[in-house]
Amino acid sequence: MKVFLSVDMEGVAGIVDWAQCLAAGEDYALGRDLLVGEVNAAIDGAAAAGATQILVNDAHSVMRNLPPQRLGHRAAYLSGRFKPLYMMEGLDESFDAAVFLGYHAAIATPGVLSHTYNPRAIADVLINGVTTGEAGLNALVAQHFRVPVAVITGDQYVGPEADPFCPGVRHIQVKRSISRYSALNQHPDVARDLIREGVRVALKNLPSLAPPRILMPATIEVRFTSPDMAEQATWIQGVSRVDPVTVALTGDDPLRLHRCFITLVYLTRSLIESY
Ligand SMILES: [Zn+2]
Repeated sequence: MKVFLSVDMEGVAGIVDWAQCLAAGEDYALGRDLLVGEVNAAIDGAAAAGATQILVNDAHSVMRNLPPQRLGHRAAYLSGRFKPLYMMEGLDESFDAAVFLGYHAAIATPGVLSHTYNPRAIADVLINGVTTGEAGLNALVAQHFRVPVAVITGDQYVGPEADPFCPGVRHIQVKRSISRYSALNQHPDVARDLIREGVRVALKNLPSLAPPRILMPATIEVRFTSPDMAEQATWIQGVSRVDPVTVALTGDDPLRLHRCFITLVYLTRSLIESY
């Protein structure tokens, strides 16, 4: 069994502030420690279910948040920036399941540290009219390679947000968001136990899980934080303006849709103001 772990950070138990999950933050060392604990719990759960190959794709910020030598079961580690498939880089049709670890709520939701790829550029994203976070966008890649998404971990919002795009995905809730900057967290040991056991059970039940089946052709709508970002987005072929701050793209190739969305993320970075 081959298992793919897409690892974000904001959804890890104990993490409630950017200071804990950005390299320049004064509490980043603590955040990394909490993160590697949950990643190893997922690795242990996958191994207990029979996984023989595990790939960890670091999908947070500059994407080198994990100390490779601390990863359990000799898991391979895909790290570093500018990956074409971003949070899903490394996935292909040879994998049996994907796990989304440490995920956070969509920008349109009051979950802790909520955002959708870029909080300073993107105000909302909808797939076929349904608001989605990163899980739904990443499900497009899983759909292309026909790999089921078995588990998502994070707060109380991430599971329900993933449901419309990741059929049968198992939710592991390790904290309850109170506001965008506070949460009631499980103790790290409890969170790790929940993840280890949840991943094991989900992967044991793999035959009952189907890959994502987002209806194609699909339409992705992206609402930006400023009209000039929406204008810039229309420079990409196939992207059309819906209103001053919103664009839409439609297509029947899930991988192409994902790539186009990622291009929007990279392109609009140039217009983000620093104050
Ligand atoms: Zn992140």
